[in-house]
Amino acid sequence: MFEFTYSANPARVIFGSGTLGRLPEIVEEMGLQRVVVLSTPQQKDDAERLQAVIGKRCAGIFPDAQMHTPVHVTEKAVDMVLALQADGLVAVGGGSTTGLGKAIALRTDLVQIVAPTTYAGSEMTPILGETRDGNKMTQTNAKVLPEVVIYDVDLTMSLPVKLSGTSGINAIAHAIEALYSRDANPVISLLAKEAVSEFSKALPAISANPGDRTARSGALYGAWLCGTCLGAVGMALHHKLCHTLGGMFDLPHAETHTVILPHALAYNAPAVPEAMRALREALDTNDPPRALYDLAGKVGAPRSLKELGMPESGIAQAVERAIANPYWNPRELEPDLILALIENAFAGRLPEYQHTEHHG
Ligand code: NAD
Repeated sequence: MFEFTYSANPARVIFGSGTLGRLPEIVEEMGLQRVVVLSTPQQKDDAERLQAVIGKRCAGIFPDAQMHTPVHVTEKAVDMVLALQADGLVAVGGGSTTGLGKAIALRTDLVQIVAPTTYAGSEMTPILGETRDGNKMTQTNAKVLPEVVIYDVDLTMSLPVKLSGTSGINAIAHAIEALYSRDANPVISLLAKEAVSEFSKALPAISANPGDRTARSGALYGAWLCGTCLGAVGMALHHKLCHTLGGMFDLPHAETHTVILPHALAYNAPAVPEAMRALREALDTNDPPRALYDLAGKVGAPRSLKELGMPESGIAQAVERAIANPYWNPRELEPDLILALIENAFAGRLPEYQHTEHHG
């Protein structure tokens, strides 16, 4: 018997190739006169191109988005949009640029148009993570949800192979935890299964040929689905471990997700038979954690925390922190087994199904 609550997030999604060409028409339709384009310094060229495309309805560009959405950068950007009397934002980039747009929207209520260039999925969520003095604070607020998302496959053709792989597996992690979320529901589970299936085919193809447009389109479609999953339901152990490790040791975001995912899934596997059934089908395998470990290998992604720079001496403290203030998880957190999980991930060993020892 089904029993669920499902809230869909409102957003207009435009998907295809060359879709960014519709930006001037969208800006006009939304009645915007003075938009500001956001990007990272690395993608300033993209921002300048969009500025030219938008023409006189563009009031300026802010090309200083940074990883982890530092509040001091946001404050600079807010000063600029207020001085320019901007009435909308156009973010072109990955999760870092989208994060800046959301942080500005939180403070100004400006409407957001987002053109994603990675598979992170932030554009589909009402979640904002910000850092102040190195501390990350995360909040969920409908005010930060972008109004329009323009997925243009052309923007993703330049995403380097390695970043495509880790960004894609980061997205898969949202879908997998959605399948066994406390708020799982049939709509999101359908999207999640489809997303895992798309990515598992697209990522190896992109790795073999970064110019494969069909694979790029499949991956971007998967990214939309995964972002929708993340925006609709709560996450569990995998995300808790990644946030804990990332925060403690300043590890790179998508790479940390890529390393942890097979291990976290193997840990939860005994508690989530329905999700495992969906994943066996989506990944066409009897062993989904192993398939994810192999997928990371195929796309040349790191598979150990050691490679990411985590110190071995930090393992015990990481276990303590992950357990001290856990997210909801379908399986109880057993300290010995979480320790084994992190040790395996640290060394880059194959994921192990961690069974509880029943004594007596
Ligand atoms: P990113 O946005 O930091 O991008 C990484 C680098 O790649 C940047 O220098 C960027 O300019 C460059 N880049 C992006 N797309 C490119 C392309 N197509 N071609 C060439 N270079 C390109 O990385 P990300 O993984 O997209 O985002 C990570 C951030 O997003 C993290 O801070 C994470 O916490 C956040 N995030 C938030 C949510 C949410 O819902 N709030 C969801 C997912 C991720």
